[in-house]
Amino acid sequence: MYLPDFEYYVPESVTEAYGLLAQFGDRAKVIAGGTDVLTKMKQNILAPEVLVSLKNLNQLAGISYEKGKGIIIGSRVTHNELVNSAVLQEKYLSICEAAHHMANNQIRNRGTVGGNIVNAVPSADLPPILIALGAVVKLVGTGGERTVSLEEFIIGPGKTELKQDEVLTEIVIPDQPLTGSTYMKFGLRQSGALAVVGVAAAVVMDGDICEEARIVLGAVAPVPMRAKKAEELLKGKSVTDELLEETGVCAAGESKPIADIRGSVEYRRDLVRVFTKRALSKAIKEGHC
Ligand SMILES: Cc1cc2nc3c(=O)[nH]c(=O)nc-3n(C[C@H](O)[C@H](O)[C@H](O)COP(=O)(O)OP(=O)(O)OC[C@H]3O[C@@H](n4cnc5c(N)ncnc54)[C@H](O)[C@@H]3O)c2cc1C
Repeated sequence: MYLPDFEYYVPESVTEAYGLLAQFGDRAKVIAGGTDVLTKMKQNILAPEVLVSLKNLNQLAGISYEKGKGIIIGSRVTHNELVNSAVLQEKYLSICEAAHHMANNQIRNRGTVGGNIVNAVPSADLPPILIALGAVVKLVGTGGERTVSLEEFIIGPGKTELKQDEVLTEIVIPDQPLTGSTYMKFGLRQSGALAVVGVAAAVVMDGDICEEARIVLGAVAPVPMRAKKAEELLKGKSVTDELLEETGVCAAGESKPIADIRGSVEYRRDLVRVFTKRALSKAIKEGHC
């Protein structure tokens, strides 16, 4: 369980950071909070020769709101900073709630939103709610700057569109007319457990008519997946308990879970049914994002 030898760089700018990534190529890896990288290095799953730390890059810290652009979350923001952010508590409490139910306090103090996204673990808690809120990620590297929707950024377990010499710098949630959103997670323990199923929902309601719904399922497919048929079922309809039940059944049918130590395929599908209904109901009734 000892760490293998590695060189450690602490760049003072994003340009210096991606320059180091370009210079060392596959031998280098970014380290943010290190809760995943260091664990894997200790377990001999990863052995980067060079670690490029983001800890001095203050431009990747902080959460702000810019009118016309939306909420901007620096990639180095920790889970506990998400929980305690006044900006998020006012605009998207659902993100605070998702972060609050992750891991334990130690991990929430170290683990970052960027690390959670780039890890691309199917059970990760932040991608479903961020996708439901239409988040885009900003990537900066030797080829310049680009933005990609988070939904398209994660392409498989542990795989993303990030290039070797790129740094994920920020996550942007554009201004939008949502009336409610939430993330619900079912784990085998109350806290510190990975999601067996996670469901994020975001809705635009006009009275009891659902004008738009986004439903994103976590831990039941290789990537966080939109349950698009279930979303369509709700569109333009008056929301009743029966319709929510039908939507849950539809989302369960769309999900593609695998069986593992935390649950069978059938168990996970049933959890998707139940949690889709609960998440939609909460997003609709509580009326805050
Ligand atoms: C005990 C324990 C419990 C956990 N519980 C949960 C849980 O309940 N829910 C959950 O979702 N996760 C959980 N995790 C997983 C992990 O803590 C989170 O995914 C965390 O957010 C990772 O962030 P980090 O900053 O520590 O990432 P790091 O370990 O620093 O990096 C992770 C990966 O992302 C890359 N990376 C990080 N930041 C950037 C960036 N800005 N640009 C480019 N690449 C980057 C790194 O190179 C690496 O490949 C748990 C982990 C542990 C050890």
